[in-house]
Amino acid sequence: MSLIQTEALVLKQFDLGEADKIITFYTKKEGKIRAVAKKARNSNNNRVSAVVLPYCYNLIKVYKSKSLDRLNSVDNIHRFEDLRNNLNKMAYAAYFSEMVEKAGMEYHPNQNLFNLILKTFYKMSKSPIEKLENISVVFKLLFLKYIGVQPRINYCYECGEKQKTLHRQYFNVREGGLICSECLKKRNENYRLLKQNELDLIKRVYRSEINSLDDLDVNIDLIRNLDKLIDQFILYHLDLNLKSNDFLQIIKDFDKN
Ligand SMILES: [Zn+2]
Repeated sequence: MSLIQTEALVLKQFDLGEADKIITFYTKKEGKIRAVAKKARNSNNNRVSAVVLPYCYNLIKVYKSKSLDRLNSVDNIHRFEDLRNNLNKMAYAAYFSEMVEKAGMEYHPNQNLFNLILKTFYKMSKSPIEKLENISVVFKLLFLKYIGVQPRINYCYECGEKQKTLHRQYFNVREGGLICSECLKKRNENYRLLKQNELDLIKRVYRSEINSLDDLDVNIDLIRNLDKLIDQFILYHLDLNLKSNDFLQIIKDFDKN
């Protein structure tokens, strides 16, 4: 049995038997980890149960074993209480967590992905709910980059021509990128015209990362249209089938009405 110490975010938890919980963490050093927290449901053990709630940021020690790993100790760094207390923030936090949980592999570290979700939680907790849709677009684009399926927006995927020489940009979800107008004539597929302001926004996110939209007054329709395209991309390339998406859609529809 080996002991691992690492920073970790709680992605989800569920009860195991009468007294225990199984916690899924995304950790800085080891990627995804699932570990049993013994007696975490016991009322005498409130200290542990309060910091293994979803989205808590902790320093954990885990005993790695051949069967189920076991949580040895947990020291809280930040609780992100506002992500559980606000319904809108909770819906997004659950959605991002499930994306990371589904795409992240056990004992396969991805520090960029860890930093992304941690920074996103901090950003969400500091931001008004009106900014959540912007944060979501930034999160999803960077998520795609860090798991290695970034949309190709600088060259035509067919002939390699640089995007700046293209007159109009057409995006193909299946091929994962832009096609130039010359190559487009030879192909008969579904393309989505990518407007210049949409392309600029994607480039801005990849250039400036998590804070890219902070000082920008972005049109909400632009964000929503781009968000739909990114969702199609995620669905086609990752097929994550996220349960949390249903709740998120309800929250979004409610806010629009
Ligand atoms: Zn081309």
